[in-house]
Amino acid sequence: MAKISINLSDGTVKQEEKKDIIVGIDLGTTNSLVAYMEAGNAVAVSGQDGKNTLVPSVVHFSEGDTVLVGDAAKAFLLKQPQNTIYSVKRLMGKSYQDIAKAGQYLGYEIIDEDTESLVKIRVRDKFYSPVELSAKILAELKNRIENTLDQPISKAVITVPAYFNDAQRQATRDAGKLAGLDVLRIVNEPTAASLAYGIGLSQDESKTIAVYDLGGGTFDISVLQIQGGIFEVLSTNGDTLLGGDDFDRAIIDYWLEEYNIEKNILTDNKELGQSFRIAAEEAKKTLSTQDQYTGTAGGQTVNLNKAQFESLVKPLIDKTLVSCKNALSDAQLTVDKIDSVIMVGGSTRVPAVKKAVSAYFQQEVNDKLNPDEVVALGAAIQADILAGNNKDLLLIDITPLSLGIETMGGLMDTIIPRNTKVPAKAGRQYTTSVDGQKNLQVSVYQGERDLVADNRKLGEFILRGIPPMPAGIPKIDIQFILDADGILTVKASELRSGVEQSIQVKSAYGISEEDMARMLLDSIQNAEADMKVRALLEARNEANNIILSADKFLQQNATILNEEETTRTIELTNALREAVKGEDKDRINLAMEELNKYTTPLAHRAMDVNIGEAIKGKKL
Ligand code: AMP
Repeated sequence: MAKISINLSDGTVKQEEKKDIIVGIDLGTTNSLVAYMEAGNAVAVSGQDGKNTLVPSVVHFSEGDTVLVGDAAKAFLLKQPQNTIYSVKRLMGKSYQDIAKAGQYLGYEIIDEDTESLVKIRVRDKFYSPVELSAKILAELKNRIENTLDQPISKAVITVPAYFNDAQRQATRDAGKLAGLDVLRIVNEPTAASLAYGIGLSQDESKTIAVYDLGGGTFDISVLQIQGGIFEVLSTNGDTLLGGDDFDRAIIDYWLEEYNIEKNILTDNKELGQSFRIAAEEAKKTLSTQDQYTGTAGGQTVNLNKAQFESLVKPLIDKTLVSCKNALSDAQLTVDKIDSVIMVGGSTRVPAVKKAVSAYFQQEVNDKLNPDEVVALGAAIQADILAGNNKDLLLIDITPLSLGIETMGGLMDTIIPRNTKVPAKAGRQYTTSVDGQKNLQVSVYQGERDLVADNRKLGEFILRGIPPMPAGIPKIDIQFILDADGILTVKASELRSGVEQSIQVKSAYGISEEDMARMLLDSIQNAEADMKVRALLEARNEANNIILSADKFLQQNATILNEEETTRTIELTNALREAVKGEDKDRINLAMEELNKYTTPLAHRAMDVNIGEAIKGKKL
């Protein structure tokens, strides 16, 4: 196990780690920001105006595919919603099925498929993954700090919500890589917020804390236990559709009623709607420090006082307290066991929020730091610890290169990411791709590239004796167990039948620090090319599955479809077959979308007919 430090611009291995600046990044749903350590203090970096540290997490594609990020992109949200992507964090590592379940509404186009493949966002005739879009935001932040410090920056710590799963964390790492950043650590947002308040910085500290995070569109509460410098998330709770925007909406609704304005007028007249939204947010912010607000919205004078505002938002604040109660009960704790409460997110500036949270937890809350910046500041502190600048904190051993297995099309599926603390254990479930498949080859690789061919093979084995089942039914669990000496045990088992097989390999064997540095440098330099190949292979895999389903569908429903429907389905399937042979992933995606659009209503009809038949045949 080792800790390496390389200069990504020229590939040299650095002996002296101290001079490295590793930045902390808060990649948020609404806003993102970057921070670093300067003379022992964490500082958030502002833009050219020297004031605003927040970069709106919005990406706009203008005609000719010029990309704008941040405030410049936000200006297009109303005018060109279909080319302006916001809230991309909600889509990170998510499949179409996940999104359908969440029933979310977004202003831009997401292809409507009910599959397990990862979502893509369509902008004109191009398709983007959430990873690519997040990478654009990260690249903007990288640019911002490079301009401020006047030096290249290549290493970062990025924060994610505590509830992010493995796929969402991996997607965040990939976005960093694509933006030219070596992501040394993915840190939980509540952990970063605690570090910003200096909690958990000393080894002998033992504390239980609650982090209350109320932003513009989301609410999270996390309960953490800190012991010996280790942060453990005991529970998380919250509401992904509750935040300051709802406060604004409550104010607008109140005004509409107060001034006898038709609600529909605001939806029909976007400019009027926008002017009310701006006034409502201004009123809310004003009432954080004053008792009375007077302004104008759409030519109408609007008023609101603090007491009125507080009664409007009380139900929303109460909802967050229910989540706090649930989080405590999941952690099997009572309020008196919480040592500190930390406030995160712009909406915690509302005095009524602070008062309610403080009353609920029966203590003063930590609110001295800027609630918009606190997560990024904590990430910068974590980055500084990793850079070795905080001598009091011991550095834990980490795995220097990612470990994973080969999946369809020669892609690397990382199971234990690089820089994970060891010992470590991680696993994932897979299935078969062919009907009746009895054996499954498990090939274990080490490295950062997207194609296994570019990585280092550690070993392979075959899981034999899977009972014959249709493709997609077997549940094959692969577990990676990495001990403190770098010995990796890989276990594969088919969960339905219990067949099992495993190997042991030495992950650190025969690889020098220079080789590691080169592999890492290659991965960052080739990130864009790798991602293009990955996107093409993934589109092909997905298309092949869809072609198989379409063929099956035609066979099974020959009597339900009329001639025109059958011919058109065959035509569209053949067009997709043709597209799969080519190298253009956007063409494959477009062909898939067309086939899906055409066959979805047919599939619904076929399902209704089949259910009808089944009910008819059933004796009651
Ligand atoms: P965040 O997502 O953490 O950036 O939070 C943004 C939310 O905080 C938005 O809903 C803002 O309107 C809200 N916010 C920002 N400043 C204030 C303030 N002074 N008082 C009340 N709410 C605020």
